[in-house]
Amino acid sequence: MDLARLAAGALYRPDSARAPVRFAAAELRAYLTRLFGDAPGERPVAGATGAWLHLAPPEADSPPEIPAPPAGAEYALVPRAGGLTLTAATPRALVAAVYALLEAAGCEWSPDGPDGERLPREPARTLPALEGRAAFARRAYASDLGTWHYGVPSRLAERLPSDVAFIDWMAKSGATGFLFIRAANDTQWTVPPLAAELERRGLALELGGHVLTELLPRSLFAAHPEYFPSTSGGERSDLGNLCPSSAALGIVSERARAAFAGAAEVHLWGLDALEGGWCTCERCARLAPSDQALLVCNAVADALAPDVRLFHLAYHDTLPPPESVRPAPGVSAEFAPRERCYAHPLDDPACVTNRPYRQAFEHHLERFAGRVHVFEYYGDAILFGGCAVPLVDVCGRDLEYYRRAGARGVSCLTFGRYSLWAHGANIEAFARASFRPAEAPAARTAHCVRRFGAAAGPMTRYLTALETLMARVVTYGDVKLPPARDATRATLDDALAAAPEVRRLLRDAAATARAPASVAAEEPLLDYTLATLAALRQWAAAAAGARDEAAAEHAATALGDAIRHVASVPVEVKGSWGAYDLEIANAFYVASLRARRAAGG
Ligand SMILES: [Zn+2]
Ligand SMILES: [Zn+2]
Repeated sequence: MDLARLAAGALYRPDSARAPVRFAAAELRAYLTRLFGDAPGERPVAGATGAWLHLAPPEADSPPEIPAPPAGAEYALVPRAGGLTLTAATPRALVAAVYALLEAAGCEWSPDGPDGERLPREPARTLPALEGRAAFARRAYASDLGTWHYGVPSRLAERLPSDVAFIDWMAKSGATGFLFIRAANDTQWTVPPLAAELERRGLALELGGHVLTELLPRSLFAAHPEYFPSTSGGERSDLGNLCPSSAALGIVSERARAAFAGAAEVHLWGLDALEGGWCTCERCARLAPSDQALLVCNAVADALAPDVRLFHLAYHDTLPPPESVRPAPGVSAEFAPRERCYAHPLDDPACVTNRPYRQAFEHHLERFAGRVHVFEYYGDAILFGGCAVPLVDVCGRDLEYYRRAGARGVSCLTFGRYSLWAHGANIEAFARASFRPAEAPAARTAHCVRRFGAAAGPMTRYLTALETLMARVVTYGDVKLPPARDATRATLDDALAAAPEVRRLLRDAAATARAPASVAAEEPLLDYTLATLAALRQWAAAAAGARDEAAAEHAATALGDAIRHVASVPVEVKGSWGAYDLEIANAFYVASLRARRAAGG
């Protein structure tokens, strides 16, 4: 076969194709035109169905028989009869097959969207047979709905183009879906223009989040306090989740049926609180929070279509696996180890912090008969305090462990453009590792080549050194809530001792001939990150041992001031999270540190 000749030939597709199949055909024709100057004529085949395309040379007069992809493969590219067949298990996988073909021809994709893509000057004209086989069947991203500020139309409009670009890249890099995380203050389930972008590419629109407050309206409290959780004081409260031993289960199931109509992946999580959302009434007292949460999932699974995958969340007080309740067949566990250590992979035997998380994960695999997915935080600007935290190695080694252990899916929390700025290499590493975990390290170079052009080499050295520096910090959960211990101060001392060398590496990169503006854009992020660490170090020193109130207050003020470093960074770089949410999140942490000091620790 010769791709240049096929570009001048014919593109067969089923005529009754679903929208993503037509989208796949349109994308293939558009990129072949850009690569070879020719687009194959589109030939719908009457009566044909399924998810396939066939590129035929100009002289061919009909497509050959189309085989199904081999068992276990999402798609296959099969060169034959002078042509090339793309055959897929789903319309979404056919879209991925088109992009795999173009990538094999030399195209490189970008989470910044088509503007950041690199097309080859001399595309490969012969392609090997390819099969799409991934380490995880589900490969998703997730973001909190609140970060879209959909109540303020100008802010929503400002960030949508970068989200459309990200969804475009999700399809190109083989992701399967996106979760809009609803929380107690939200008034909608999705961002409709983005739901449409997912749909036309066949990507799954995953729904849900911290939704029990929505599914059991608090207005029912006056007439039915028994639906609501009993607190440890014995009073019913309209805060928290619900009483799973009450008729509330019926109400939640009914409302879930309406809210999630048509969704194939539903996330049914309790309140986003460390503890306190579950019931202690006489009938619930014997049930751990995980058991209570799973009772709700089982009841809702019963009300939804049998092919819906319903996610029970293992997180905070539901991190231990359920003991007395067995999951219904449609219920999967979603393991979200937010307070783990990110300096080490989850299965590193030397990491004491991660040991209980690994055990909890493996117990879920037993209890849920392997139906376990992982929700990870490699792009979490809140957990990492908005600091630059590259985690390429840990991401790859985590995903290799999750794959080996038998997890079926992985998802990654992101905060839009801010995550691409502060954690861009992690997101690329996650995308690669969700297919082949061993390919995560290559993401660092790929990210630097694409984003930093002529300065790719020095920027790779910079990011590698920064990853080592930050590995000393990301060991205790929220970066901005360090434990008040001498050990924390020593750790932060250690990290800051490496700061001059990391700074020098970034300066070297900036001095490279023809370094693009994206290199200079890293400087305020590094300044902010190091100012944050310095403030946290002061705080740890003041709060541990012989406590120094004035110094602790000074440190809290310095933490608040650190964000001035990113104040003048344009919204195109730091995204709407950097423009509107970072300051609020930072104020929360400053207040938390002050409150901790007031509480004596
Ligand atoms: Zn109860
Ligand atoms: Zn560790």
